Amino acid sequence: MVVGRPLLTVEQIQEKNRELADRISADFKGKNLLAVGLLKGAFIFFSDIVRLIKIPLVVDFLVASSYLKSDSSGEVKIYYDIREDVTDKDVLLIEDIVDTGVTLNYLRERILMRCPKSLRICTFLDKKERRQVDVPLDYVGFEIPNEFVVGYGLDYDNKFRNLPYISVFKKST
Ligand code: 5GP
Repeated sequence: MVVGRPLLTVEQIQEKNRELADRISADFKGKNLLAVGLLKGAFIFFSDIVRLIKIPLVVDFLVASSYLKSDSSGEVKIYYDIREDVTDKDVLLIEDIVDTGVTLNYLRERILMRCPKSLRICTFLDKKERRQVDVPLDYVGFEIPNEFVVGYGLDYDNKFRNLPYISVFKKST
């Protein structure tokens, strides 16, 4: 297993996070912000971004994972659901990466069924060319090519989450 050179450096990530947090702080000013982190993958991005947001907020989490059964269908399993009442909240769902869009689409519809005041989506990474389900993204950190990446919370087999930068991951043969 080989972790290559950084695709995104610590400095690039920090700069982008400041930019995203400034936009979020301005857009949600005066609103009832509930920031929901999608675990496990978004745990580092989430904790970095909420500390940069300059307006009051409440945090909660969703723990979910998706199992791709074929190229077009995925099944999403929820291990921990949002416990806050979302009905009067402006919800910001904070994700690590959007790939096919299957997971996000499922979670988005599930949250919308609970009638939040509004729902926006922030993802650290976007693998746009892999998209199968069209989901609206309000804040995107970086668009990346179709390669498997690890680090900054993202794993391979639950490893490499503690790498401070994003790296392309290659399985050695
Ligand atoms: P989607 O449902 O959009 O296809 O998949 C989203 C999930 O797939 C992410 O939350 C993440 O767990 C996983 N995933 C997709 N691409 C990558 C990648 O390049 N690296 C890692 N570590 N996980 C990925």
